[in-house]
Amino acid sequence: MKNFVMSEMFDGILLATIISVVSFKLKFLTKSGAVGTFILAVIIYTVGGWKTTFPILSFFILSSLLSKIGKKQKSDAQSVFEKTGQRDIIQVFANGGIATIITLVMFATNEINQFYIYYLSTIAAVTADTWGTEIGILSKKQPRLITTLKITVVGTSGAVSLNGLLGGIIGAGVIAIVGNYFQPLTYYEIIGIVISGLIASLVDSILGATIQSQYSCSICNKITERKIHCANNTTLLSGIPFINNDFVNILCAVAGIVVSIIYFSF
Ligand SMILES: [Zn+2]
Repeated sequence: MKNFVMSEMFDGILLATIISVVSFKLKFLTKSGAVGTFILAVIIYTVGGWKTTFPILSFFILSSLLSKIGKKQKSDAQSVFEKTGQRDIIQVFANGGIATIITLVMFATNEINQFYIYYLSTIAAVTADTWGTEIGILSKKQPRLITTLKITVVGTSGAVSLNGLLGGIIGAGVIAIVGNYFQPLTYYEIIGIVISGLIASLVDSILGATIQSQYSCSICNKITERKIHCANNTTLLSGIPFINNDFVNILCAVAGIVVSIIYFSF
């Protein structure tokens, strides 16, 4: 077990304060999201240092910047999404909670090299999912539903496109390359991390198309993740009520680790 030096915790608190305050000012996070980010950043930095902090920070900063690109095109899709660009505390925990747990396990078990690969895999998963969506909705071509392959509306849960898949691969690749800077990785390991991220993002799409709750708005007839649309209550169309996008994102983060464990067991 790593000794928790007070100065590391002090640096962690300082860094976490800077990240959450700046992110709040840049409108990357809501107030609750800034609190959630502060908590996770203190833990991840104090326990893992830059080795664990830099990959998740790369995910967070690059994804936040990506969400600001093509705002006009995204505003249509965003009337479908339950939540928009600014992350709240639930989204922060859904995206970074599993990574935080892995950080704690990594240093508690001292199997740092092996767990670091799983750590990168779970971040690759949430990155592939986020970039897949952010890049996918910029596409001019209509996406297809992952389950039926039927053409669907941009922003629908479970909608996939070639651009989105490519975005996911790039996102997972960026995380692997960042990780390689802190722990030299073989090509086999880099490919494993990218595959874990990509497959997890596809699992996310499948769950999004099946068990994630989707509602329909009786005012504008749009299908949405929101319980309230056009200032009215929507009605459940498909999926399980408590399974929302945040819940599916947690399963995506877990799927990244599961696929990684399977890949590296060969
Ligand atoms: Zn509506």
